[in-house]
Amino acid sequence: MRRFDGQTVVDHVSLQIAPGQVTCLLGPSGCGKSTTLRMIAGVDMQDEGTIHVDGKLVCDTVFRVPPERRSIGLMFQDFALFPHLSVGENVSFGLKGGRSEKRATVERLLDRVGLRHYIDHYPHHLSGGEQQRVALARALAPQPKIMLMDEPFSGLDNRLRDGIRDETLDLLKEEGAAVLLVTHEPEEAMRMADEIALMRDGRIVQQGAPYNIYNAPADRDAVAFFSDVN
Ligand code: ADP
Ligand code: MG
Repeated sequence: MRRFDGQTVVDHVSLQIAPGQVTCLLGPSGCGKSTTLRMIAGVDMQDEGTIHVDGKLVCDTVFRVPPERRSIGLMFQDFALFPHLSVGENVSFGLKGGRSEKRATVERLLDRVGLRHYIDHYPHHLSGGEQQRVALARALAPQPKIMLMDEPFSGLDNRLRDGIRDETLDLLKEEGAAVLLVTHEPEEAMRMADEIALMRDGRIVQQGAPYNIYNAPADRDAVAFFSDVN
């Protein structure tokens, strides 16, 4: 639970996300999706409730594991790579281990996103879609147990988006992280999710397989929300 200025913006949210699966937190703008994600990441702190990662408590109201020790990868719409570091340095940033071990990880992931030839280039040489793929490689490099993605595709133009979404999904599944993807677009959730948690006014109003939610929305608001999916 999270309050801002006496207003409860996230309330009784209970979510379990499984390794190798994509769970979509779907809901209209302002319903509390990003706030939920920030609490899981540890960059914001809940007022009530607990968070566990891989079976271990990372946060309650008095105890708090810092974000960098939660085994969590982050990707946001504004995925800003470090402009003064090369693509390879961006991916290896913050990685632990020896030089050759780090190099191997960087090369493997850049290979996987098809951008190994850009390893010594700087981000401004790359297109938006390519930067996005580097950001994905960077987020996956430390092998996070959980990947948190906050509308990572909304800055991309339509032409690119489908391809990058599919590639991202394949790579995430291969790497086996539990993925929590935030989106306000029903169509994106239908395409990417194994499980959808539908959020409204700070609460989860329905949760289940995309097909089930689409076919049997919980209430009229949910029907209206889904009505623009084809
Ligand atoms: P979403 O990501 O679903 O669009 P947010 O989690 O960003 O929603 O915001 C949920 C609500 O909490 C909104 O009403 C927003 O204005 C409010 N909110 C978010 N962050 C803060 C903050 N740091 N201070 C005050 N209010 C906030
Ligand atoms: Mg948001």
